[in-house]
Amino acid sequence: MREKCPVCGNDTLETNIREEDVQYFGRMLIMSTFCTSCGYRHNDVILVDQKDPVKITFVASGEEDLKVRVIRSSYASIRIPEIGVSIDPVTSGESFVSNVEGLLFRVINIMSQLLRDSPENREEILERLKMIGRMRNGLERITIIIEDPTGNSAIVSERARVERGKFNTR
Ligand SMILES: [Zn+2]
Repeated sequence: MREKCPVCGNDTLETNIREEDVQYFGRMLIMSTFCTSCGYRHNDVILVDQKDPVKITFVASGEEDLKVRVIRSSYASIRIPEIGVSIDPVTSGESFVSNVEGLLFRVINIMSQLLRDSPENREEILERLKMIGRMRNGLERITIIIEDPTGNSAIVSERARVERGKFNTR
């Protein structure tokens, strides 16, 4: 299966799909796309099995942790207590396969929206944005808490704490 590469435009984009057993999270489909002309690479991960409700806690510190994969189903809520942010299924029911850095990028978008909607909190929001900036440079600790009643979310790191079945909303 060859497609057009979004970077160089040649029809040399190859997509491979393989199934993998990921520790704690069960079967996942790993989709990897690779361009044989320019070397462009893109990976996606999709959870196969429906699971018990899950709560995942991960503390990211340092630049390497920004690359840790974060998979969020549309039913999951995500909290980052250090910056007082939560993304819940009501305000944002969008699922995504990303990493810690990509998650921070989404949070920046939420903050920018807040800045427009509630200018009275401007200073506090700017303070949080500065903190996110330090997080994106690996200078600040980030705690990520995902609660998913469908169990289809994951943070793929051996340091992620995974609690299944004993999920209660706050
Ligand atoms: Zn290419």
